Amino acid sequence: MNELSIGQPRIETIEISTAKVFEIEMATLRLDVIHPVVSGNKWYKLREYLNDARSKNKKAIVTFGGAYSNHVISTAAACQIFKFQSIGIIRGEKPVHLSPTLSEAQQMGMRLFFVGRTDFRMRQLPQDIFTQFSANDLYFINEGGYGIKGKEGAQTIITENDVKKYTHICAAVGTGTMLAGLIQAAAPHQQAVGISVLKNNFSIEQEIEQLLPQKSINYHIFYDYHFGGYAKYNTELLRFMNNWYGQTGIPSDFVYTGKMFYGVNHLLQKQFFKAGSKVLVIHSGGLQGNRSLTKGTLIF
Ligand SMILES: *Cc1c(COP(=O)(O)O)cnc(C)c1O
Repeated sequence: MNELSIGQPRIETIEISTAKVFEIEMATLRLDVIHPVVSGNKWYKLREYLNDARSKNKKAIVTFGGAYSNHVISTAAACQIFKFQSIGIIRGEKPVHLSPTLSEAQQMGMRLFFVGRTDFRMRQLPQDIFTQFSANDLYFINEGGYGIKGKEGAQTIITENDVKKYTHICAAVGTGTMLAGLIQAAAPHQQAVGISVLKNNFSIEQEIEQLLPQKSINYHIFYDYHFGGYAKYNTELLRFMNNWYGQTGIPSDFVYTGKMFYGVNHLLQKQFFKAGSKVLVIHSGGLQGNRSLTKGTLIF
């Protein structure tokens, strides 16, 4: 696959015995296969922002994140595709060695600026930026791509693929931007099911509602599959990810999709899905995260 082009996602059936026993049809929409770096939902979330920036003649995209942010590295790659300059405002002191994520983002042309936690929270930009760019040339994208344009892009995850026959559409929830798009684009016979990867982030439903034109009831978020919080994991999760790969051939990551597949599999066992349901699980990408694990921990 060419690094400067985006490929097509595909739907794969998930053949597992529990699904057969409970008469559930399961499939996954593999967004992880569309690009080696702007993997999965990040491409969909970024696209509308970048189109907007282009129509406004902006020159550089500024975004925010931590040292292992999928969103930051995806933004760097997407900016290469769109031919924008990119600027990453990174939380915390500049480390002696850049994380693999940041070092690749830098190789893709992203300029990195490190800011202290308070400044980061206040979105206080380092003055150095303005020696290189005029304020008018800059286009800002929130941390994680949260916002209306991100949601609009996420809607196309299901409008551009033929998913009408499914009764449930399941996805991992970080900022909730993707789920908001799925909720809005879902047909009346479809329910969106979110698996939260953060601990006790119950305000997420409010944040999702803020992105929707009207109150929605066709979604449900589960909060029991965070494994201790964002990017936390234990051996049970890693063992599940290996087994899941063994059974289905689907790789996952411990930050998002591993927890999501774990949750969906558990919901299947608890018979949350009624017999006859057709469940589509969005593989939102993000395999980058696994790079921080010791080699050999995962079998894929
Ligand atoms: C960022 C990310 C998510 C979370 O998407 P939100 O729109 O922030 O909820 C889910 N899965 C993967 C793989 C991601 O990289």
